[in-house]
Amino acid sequence: MPRPKHAMEIFELLEKSNCRECGEKTCLAFAGAVFQGRRKIAECPKLDRQVIERFSGDDQSQNNGFQEGRDYLEELKRAAAATDLAAAAKRVDAKFSGDKLTLKVLGKDFSVDARGNLSADIHINPWVAVPFLNYVLYGKGLPVSGSWVSFRELNGGQERYALFQKRCEQSMKRVADIYTDLFNDMVHLFSGKQVEKQFESDISVVLHPLPAVPLMICYWLPEAGIESSLNVFFDETADKNLDVGSVFSLGVGLAQMFGKIALRHGYPEAVST
Ligand code: SF4
Repeated sequence: MPRPKHAMEIFELLEKSNCRECGEKTCLAFAGAVFQGRRKIAECPKLDRQVIERFSGDDQSQNNGFQEGRDYLEELKRAAAATDLAAAAKRVDAKFSGDKLTLKVLGKDFSVDARGNLSADIHINPWVAVPFLNYVLYGKGLPVSGSWVSFRELNGGQERYALFQKRCEQSMKRVADIYTDLFNDMVHLFSGKQVEKQFESDISVVLHPLPAVPLMICYWLPEAGIESSLNVFFDETADKNLDVGSVFSLGVGLAQMFGKIALRHGYPEAVST
């Protein structure tokens, strides 16, 4: 589909129910946000895949599905180049050496230098690069409290929770139901830690996508006719150390990465919707 000339062209594709599941108050507001590049059309859970694909065409940024696009990443890199990284490193308790700030992302070194260049021991995906830079530039650097809350309880999380549930929690659950090594992979590949079972779950694993933004994945096995379930919890300080859009990106990005791992191990059904 050619690039829309105004928001009404996008509005015409929507259900127009103003159901708010996308976090916007109306379908028109959502159409405007998509037109301005602040939202992706795929963030309306009511659209079918064909409409999303037709709208997105070859435009990689539309296919991305995250709130932050490539332009935003470039903007953040420029902001990093204009920032005192030594002071930022003190604030977020990162290492600073030469002209480079380094901290751990999922247990691996991830750095930004004084020119805003990123380097890492893991693949640099936008879903992790954008939160990394937001954390360094704008995070408060508060210590982790140890109190777990759901995404919905974070500041700004309520409006996006339906989408978070669909694209993070349900997507991870689908993988966990089929690919039983998922939680071992979290521990061995991503420096996760299996912790004492929380909220009466069968498995609880804590990951650190950023040092002061841990997330805990709790999984309940199916039993006696009750379906399995999976919930993701964040430290209650997560929305102070990172903007909620970046917290969303980390959850959804991890879910997609787990899906790819399951696919590599021969479980295509773990990622089918
Ligand atoms: S989720 Fe879709 S249908 Fe519901 S308000 Fe948002 S744009 Fe409209």
